[in-house]
Amino acid sequence: LAYHNALVSQMSSGLIDRFTMEKRFCRPDGSMTWTQLSRRLYRDQTGKPVQELNALVDITALKEAQMKIAAAKDEAERLNVQLEDAITQAQQLAREANLASQAKSQFLAMMSHEIRTPMNGVLGMTSLLLDGPLSRDQRELADTIQSCGDALLGIINDILDFSKIESGRLDLDLTEFSVRECVESALDVLASRAAEKGIDLLYEVADGVPGNVRGDASRLRQVLINLLGNALKFTTKGEVVLSVQAVPDTDPEPELLFAVRDTGIGIEKDALGRLFQSFSQVDASTTRRYGGTGLGLAISKRLVNLMGGRVWVESEPGKGSTFSFTIRIEPLPSKPRPFVNAGRHSLDGKHLLMVDDNATNLRILSALARNWGMVPHAESDPLVALALLRSGRHFDLAVLDMQMPEMDGTMLATEIRKTIPGTVLPLVLLSSIGQRVEGDLFAANLTKPVKPSLLLEVLTAALNSVATEVAVDAPVGEAVSDLLGVAVITRAERVLLAEDNLVNQRIVLRMLSKLGFAAEVVGNGREALEAVGRQSYDIILLDVQMPEMDGLETAAHLVRDYPVAGVRPWIIALTANAMQGDRENCLAAGMDDYLAKPIKLGDLLRVLDHACHQRQARNPKVTVTIST
Ligand code: ADP
Repeated sequence: LAYHNALVSQMSSGLIDRFTMEKRFCRPDGSMTWTQLSRRLYRDQTGKPVQELNALVDITALKEAQMKIAAAKDEAERLNVQLEDAITQAQQLAREANLASQAKSQFLAMMSHEIRTPMNGVLGMTSLLLDGPLSRDQRELADTIQSCGDALLGIINDILDFSKIESGRLDLDLTEFSVRECVESALDVLASRAAEKGIDLLYEVADGVPGNVRGDASRLRQVLINLLGNALKFTTKGEVVLSVQAVPDTDPEPELLFAVRDTGIGIEKDALGRLFQSFSQVDASTTRRYGGTGLGLAISKRLVNLMGGRVWVESEPGKGSTFSFTIRIEPLPSKPRPFVNAGRHSLDGKHLLMVDDNATNLRILSALARNWGMVPHAESDPLVALALLRSGRHFDLAVLDMQMPEMDGTMLATEIRKTIPGTVLPLVLLSSIGQRVEGDLFAANLTKPVKPSLLLEVLTAALNSVATEVAVDAPVGEAVSDLLGVAVITRAERVLLAEDNLVNQRIVLRMLSKLGFAAEVVGNGREALEAVGRQSYDIILLDVQMPEMDGLETAAHLVRDYPVAGVRPWIIALTANAMQGDRENCLAAGMDDYLAKPIKLGDLLRVLDHACHQRQARNPKVTVTIST
C-alpha cells in the first residue's frame, strides 16, 4: 500500500503520468486474488489533471502458474544438485570397482602362475616317470596322475585366460599357419576321448578354405578343442563333426566358418542365452553329472571376438547341438600341399569300396577319394557290401569301419577273405584308437578322424601292397621308450628325427629302433637346429614339410653353420614325394640323401647304411662300434 501511495503521489505531482503494479486482495472467504492495476492520468495543456484511467485485471491464474513454475524450478535445481552428487559417487565407485577388478584379475593371474609352476613339475616328472621302466600297476598309477594333472592344468589355464581377457591383457599372436594342420592338431587331442566313448569324431575342410593363413593358431586351436571337448562331453552316442568352410563374398577380409555338430543331449531354448556368459552352466545337475567350470564358452566367445568373429549355437534338446563361429583371417600364398597331388597317378580311376554305418564319414571319405581321382562306392550295410563283392563287382581297394552294428570290420574282412578266396583286394581298417588288428588281414590300420594326408599315403601304399611294413598307428599313450625299449641299440650313430606328424614320428622311431639306432625326435626345423647346437648327431632325418621352419630352410642353416661336410650331420630328406623336382630341391638345399614316404623299412635301412659308410669315408676318425 505504501508503494501504491508513493506512486499515486508521484503521479499527482506530475513526476510520472502512469504506473502498473500487482496487488493482492484478500477475499472475505480468505482466498487470495492477484490483480494487475494500471493507472494513467491525463492532463490538459496547462497541466491540470482532467481524466484518470484505471484498469484492474484478475491475474490469479497467471500468478499461480508462475509460482508453480518457480517451485518446479527450485525442485529441478535441487534434483540437479542431487544428480551431480550421485554421478560423482558413481564415478568414484566405478573407479574403485575397476581397481578391484584389476586387482582381482592380477591376483588370479598371479595365482594361476603360482599354481602352474609346481603343476609343471608334477606333470614333467610324471612324464619322465612314464618314460622309464615301470610295472603295469605303477604305469597305471602314473597315468592317472598325469591325466588328473592335465585336467587340473586345463582348469588353471582357463582361469588364467579368463583373467587375462577380463583385464584386457590378452593379445593375439599372429603367425603363418595351415588351417588344416591346426584343425588336425585339435582333433589329435580329442581322438582318444572320442574312441573311449565310441563316438565317431570326423572333420571336413571344404574346398575354398585357404591352406595357409596368418592368424593366431594356438587360440583357434583352443576354441576348437573347447567346442569339440564339450561336444564329446555331452554326447553319448553318434558323432561329432567339425567342418570348416570359407564364407563367400567376405572380401577383402575373408571369413572362415567353423561348425562343431554333435548328436548329444542338446540344450533347452531358455538356456541358450546364458551359454556364453562366464561361470554359467545350463543347470546345476548338469554340472554334477558332467563337471566343468562354465568358463570354456565364455573364453571361446571372447577369443572369437578378438579374432574378429562371432559365435552362436543352434540346438534341439535330445537331438544335438551345433556350435558355429567365424573368424577373420588373412590368406597367404599356399605352400604346396603334398597329399593333394601325391600318389595321384596310382590312385587315379581306382575303385574304392567304403563300408561304414556312419553316413557323415562315408560322405567325407567319398569326397576325398573323388578328389584323388578315385571312383568311390559308399556302403552303409556290411552285408550289402559283401553281396556286392560276391556278385563279382570289381574293387581295387576297400576301407572298412571297425565299429558297425551286426558285423564289425574284422568280421567283414574275414568274411570277404573266406567267401571270396584268393582275392587280392587290399583292406584298410578304420577304427578307434586301441582297436588295432594285428596280422595280415588288413593292409593297414587307420584311426578316426583320419587325416587326408595319411589316408592318401596308406591307400597308395596298400595299392602297392607295401603298407604291411608300416604300422601307421602306434597305440596312443605308449611311451616312446616302450618302443625303443624292446630294441637293442646296436649302432653307434646318433640319429635325430625332425618330423612334425606324431604318427609318422612313431613309425620312424619304431623302425629306427628296429634297425638298432638310438634316435631323438623334434617337431620342426627350429628345434632340430637347437638340438644340433646342443649335441652332435651323425644323421638327421629331416621332414620337408614342417611348421615354423621347413626341412629345406633347416638344411640351408645347417650347411651355413657347419660348412665342412664331415663335421655336418648327414642329412636325409623325408618327403611325401609330391612335388616335381622335390629330390633336386632337397639336394640343392644341401641335403645328402632323400627318402620318399611312405617309408619302408628296407629303404630306411639302405639310406642309413649308405649314410654310415659315407660318414666314415668323409671322416675316418669316426669309429663305428657295433655291439651286439
Ligand atoms: P564347462 O566347462 O562347464 O563345460 P562351458 O562354458 O564350456 O563350461 O559350457 C557351459 C555349459 O554349456 C555346459 O556346462 C553345458 O551345460 C552347456 N553345453 C556346452 N556345450 C554343449 C553341447 N555340445 N551340448 C550340450 N550342452 C552344452
